[in-house]
Amino acid sequence: MRLVLVPTPIGNLEDITLRAIRELKEAEVVACEDTRRTGVLLKHLGISKPLLRLDQHTIGQARKLLQGYGRVAYVTDAGTPGISDPGAELVALALQEGWQLEVLPGPTALIPALVASGLPTARFAFEGFLPQKRSEREARLKQVAEGRTVVLYEAPHRLRATLEDLVQFYGPEHPVAVARELSKAHEEVWRGTLAGALAHFQAPRGEFVLVLGPKAPTPQVPLEAEPLVGALRKKGLEGKALVRALVEAGIPRNQAYALAHQKTEANR
Ligand code: SAM
Repeated sequence: MRLVLVPTPIGNLEDITLRAIRELKEAEVVACEDTRRTGVLLKHLGISKPLLRLDQHTIGQARKLLQGYGRVAYVTDAGTPGISDPGAELVALALQEGWQLEVLPGPTALIPALVASGLPTARFAFEGFLPQKRSEREARLKQVAEGRTVVLYEAPHRLRATLEDLVQFYGPEHPVAVARELSKAHEEVWRGTLAGALAHFQAPRGEFVLVLGPKAPTPQVPLEAEPLVGALRKKGLEGKALVRALVEAGIPRNQAYALAHQKTEANR
């Protein structure tokens, strides 16, 4: 079987390559996340094809559903299949089954957002949707944020909560670009700080990509401050209260924050 992953527009229907159109025309069947949405695109392109639903609920049965086809095109709702959508599972199946796999280059939301952000592009980490649990989000960001731009996807109803968590992690003045409705009529690339983004996006609507500037390396914590941290912890001070006490003792805020969040043997 020949499986072709076909990127589709993330908004503007002109963003589709000639090769993508040819592959859609030549496929026996177009497998897709949402038959209604893909139906609209195919109609716009003047292509009439049988559609087969392969979304997060049915992707597990892909082998059975695709049986008997010689040439399949797979498209997701928008952008490149395999990026934060069920496409990756289909790729794994194709490799396992020894199907001929072709992945076409084409539209995706992360690259235009990254480039339009004006933030450094030389090193970046794409993290898709962050985990929903706060502790898991923070652990994930810790792994990648230092020295690198981070690109995230987010749904409108979770945007503000995510910005609030990012303020906790990066601080309110950290640079961010928020790319909204890319390639659509109401496209907006907002650039500023995390606190500014919270003030600007009061009632978020549309689709969002967040691009965060690189986090400065964690400052080396002075060894002589550690006994003080131990003493304050023994008094029951943790978190914000511990940071405040360290700052009052003359330790710079970034170092106080690092000290207060340093894992101790007890809570490691
Ligand atoms: N496979 C897609 C790609 O290549 O970008 C991503 C699929 S993921 C399920 C959908 C997310 O992509 C949205 O929640 C949003 O964060 C982002 N996205 C998709 N289209 C967008 C657009 N036109 N403007 C901004 N973000 C977009």
